[in-house]
Amino acid sequence: MNVQCDVCNTSFDATPKTDTLKVNGVKYELLFLICPECGKVYPSAVYDSDSVKLTQEIQKYQSRLKKVRTKADALSKDAKRISDAIAVKQAKLKTNLERSKHVIERGEIVYTENGLQFKACPFLK
Ligand SMILES: [Zn+2]
Repeated sequence: MNVQCDVCNTSFDATPKTDTLKVNGVKYELLFLICPECGKVYPSAVYDSDSVKLTQEIQKYQSRLKKVRTKADALSKDAKRISDAIAVKQAKLKTNLERSKHVIERGEIVYTENGLQFKACPFLK
């Protein structure tokens, strides 16, 4: 599939690339398209390593919770403890995802010889 660049109208292959991007000391993995003609970066997804780990941990806890619950003791201490742990991790994940969203919405990502760089939009805080 091809896409067209908004800036220079060049048509190019829409296979996303991945690279890392550091913003305010946080390292993100960015999934993006880049125009081969003018270098305009189109971010499609951004996530940090913490969120990847949190998502995996939540899934692990959820499958543990399922096992506990099939023992018909849904209100057991174990189930409560696991549910609480999931809630804490989900809250943290939500914060992280909001932060990642900010990276896309609050600035521009450019590709330089040093790799991807984030340029914060001066009008948004
Ligand atoms: Zn272009």
